[in-house]
Amino acid sequence: MKYLFKNANILSSEEVIFGNVVVAENKIVYVGKNLPNEKKFDEVIDVNGNLLMSGFINAHCHTPSTVLRGISDDKPLEEWLEDIIPKERALSDDDIYWSTMLGIMEYVRGGITGVEEDFGRLVPVVKAHKTSGLRARISIGFPNVAQKKEDMPLDKQLEVVQEAGLSAVCFAHSVYGTSEENFEKLITFAAKNGLPVSTHMSETLTEVGDCTVKNNDLSPPQLLEDYGFFDRQATVFHAVHCDKDDLDILANYDINIVSCPASNLKLASGIAPIYAASQKGINVALGTDGAYSNNSYDMFKEMFLAATLNKAALYKADILPAHKVVQMATQNGAKTLGFENVGDIKEGNFADLILVDLNGPHHQPVNNIISNLVYSAKVADVYFTMVNGKILYHNGKYNIGESPEKIYEKVTKIKNKLNKR
Ligand SMILES: [Zn+2]
Repeated sequence: MKYLFKNANILSSEEVIFGNVVVAENKIVYVGKNLPNEKKFDEVIDVNGNLLMSGFINAHCHTPSTVLRGISDDKPLEEWLEDIIPKERALSDDDIYWSTMLGIMEYVRGGITGVEEDFGRLVPVVKAHKTSGLRARISIGFPNVAQKKEDMPLDKQLEVVQEAGLSAVCFAHSVYGTSEENFEKLITFAAKNGLPVSTHMSETLTEVGDCTVKNNDLSPPQLLEDYGFFDRQATVFHAVHCDKDDLDILANYDINIVSCPASNLKLASGIAPIYAASQKGINVALGTDGAYSNNSYDMFKEMFLAATLNKAALYKADILPAHKVVQMATQNGAKTLGFENVGDIKEGNFADLILVDLNGPHHQPVNNIISNLVYSAKVADVYFTMVNGKILYHNGKYNIGESPEKIYEKVTKIKNKLNKR
């Protein structure tokens, strides 16, 4: 298929230009002011001055949790985990597939084109992502708290992900949830197979305190450094309670931080020092975390919070400007997940793009599109989502391999089943 997007405000490499974009098969092949002959295209989409930009990368989520949205709200993290874990374990493979499909629906509706999926029970998760066409990095390893052994051998897990054409990351839940032995096993496997690693880190004060007490005063980053977790490309989720020394450790390695500000606020975990981390040259991306702790997959909300929380905490309005935060939600996310040629609208990149309606009163008058994107845009403004050259959402119509009606019917049944327990 060959698409022409004409009359678009195009967000490309941090600036907005007015022009046209050509997509051929799965790549962006032209970005510029020239208007090619429309007859040469399978579909011409008049963007009418709305915004064409790269899709958002949700760099940390547990999408199968979507069906657990709202079931254990307003509780501290430790109590919340006790609530969530048995319910999560009660989900069948079929439940996980449909719950993930519901999450993917929400992703494409809100302009999310790529995700890191940190969850066990690989087969239904992989099936959902393969069915939908979303870009995904899938975790293998030790996703659960106090997991004694992997669900299936690591090499078999890798095979399942790779056979589906998806990329893999070796994931350990956390220093409190994963044994040293399992960390070692995972790190060895990652090294042998040339894979990156990821884990939750320093999410709460309790986690940091317990870690120092149990491990000769070592903070979670110090302990992970000791394990050798940072000897290959690593991603840490949250990094809320990191002091200067911790950030210095992270800055010494090839490490990405994924900040999930909405989840950190809702679970009262705190405010991640993403400004300080960025200043030290650490790549910072954004994620939503699961629907049971957020409770929505809304990258506009994450961008707003990422832009404003550090401003308020440090009493500095001139840090983390809007364009930097958009970069976190797009390019930095793609870098974190190892998605090459993704995250920006430029020739040669994969066609992972979205259209954002700028006609709502909250965008008018359009003084600054990038500021509007962070400070006033909403999920409902997204009206078109394309991944790898395939339209997954357009004006209320989903093309993710399952119909919304069927997804809603299935997740309602799962909800009723869980309520009976
Ligand atoms: Zn998480």
